[in-house]
Amino acid sequence: MYGAVMHAPGDVRYEQRDDPGILEPTDAVIRVTAACVCGSDLWPYRGFNRVSRPTPMGHEYVGVVEQVGDAVETIKVGDFVVGSFMASDNTCEVCRAGYQSRCVHVEPMGREGAQAELLRVPLADGTLVATPGMPDADLVPSLLAASDVLGTGWFAADAAQAGPGKTVAVVGDGAVGLLGVLAAKQLGAERIIAMSRHDARQKLALDFGATDIVTERGDEGVARIKELTNGLGAHSVIEAVGTQESMMQAIRATRHGGHVGFVGVSHDVEIPGQELFYATVHLMGGPAPVRRFLPDLIDRIWRREIDPGKVFDLTLPLSQVADAYAAMDERRAIKVLLTPKG
Ligand SMILES: [Zn+2]
Repeated sequence: MYGAVMHAPGDVRYEQRDDPGILEPTDAVIRVTAACVCGSDLWPYRGFNRVSRPTPMGHEYVGVVEQVGDAVETIKVGDFVVGSFMASDNTCEVCRAGYQSRCVHVEPMGREGAQAELLRVPLADGTLVATPGMPDADLVPSLLAASDVLGTGWFAADAAQAGPGKTVAVVGDGAVGLLGVLAAKQLGAERIIAMSRHDARQKLALDFGATDIVTERGDEGVARIKELTNGLGAHSVIEAVGTQESMMQAIRATRHGGHVGFVGVSHDVEIPGQELFYATVHLMGGPAPVRRFLPDLIDRIWRREIDPGKVFDLTLPLSQVADAYAAMDERRAIKVLLTPKG
């Protein structure tokens, strides 16, 4: 089969890889219908993470089950499935508490490389959720979004306790931030402030339910959020970038007693202890336990209540994966959907 392999920062190639097989009786192998490039894939692409050997890429996927191991009980050959970017058993104490991304048996799907024609999925019964049937083609992008960006935006909104009567501010206008807007809207937030200075992203944020746009960032952005909230700050703030500036912007834009949901993969973030102490805010974040939300998200997509697939503004064949990375790196695309052929 063919798949995407990163050789060095800026160097992603479409090349032949070994077909995956069943290694453990709890595995499944799926034929990937659609995959995509994640904002987090850009960290190694930009040289912020080391690439010490050729590395298969990708952790977001939907597809059709081709093989299952002997111990797989609920997932069947022929099912159309959506899975999280972290494989989990969904039965341990941590999973049952709703934190499947930190399952005691967790296996990162990035290690398997989902930007490929075929994908091994460990812990198939715990990781995968089958759709009610074969989806119409126009639902595939939204189902793919559920695998990571929607699930992550949803977790951020949930962690920030977005809901009725709340003002939610969203730091970050990438796909996760935009879907954090959608999630906040679905969860009933009264006012949703999207922070963005890009026309296309502002428009999508408004489509997804944002009520206000703030173009300032850093301390000016915080000041603007306070102006819009009687000087208090937002009840709920979603952080979807992962830098020092964005994290401090999120904490400072949150009112005392409010909640920060942080899901941008943290890079060299250091929170000053005394500022944290006096901030008096709730912090919840980390790798999103997407599996907790998948059944509900699939249901909302299947009933066509939400259309998170709108974050994909470019679709390319998997063979052009190098172009996909470049388009996202240069911010020419919000998020690129990749279609393996045959
Ligand atoms: Zn578990």
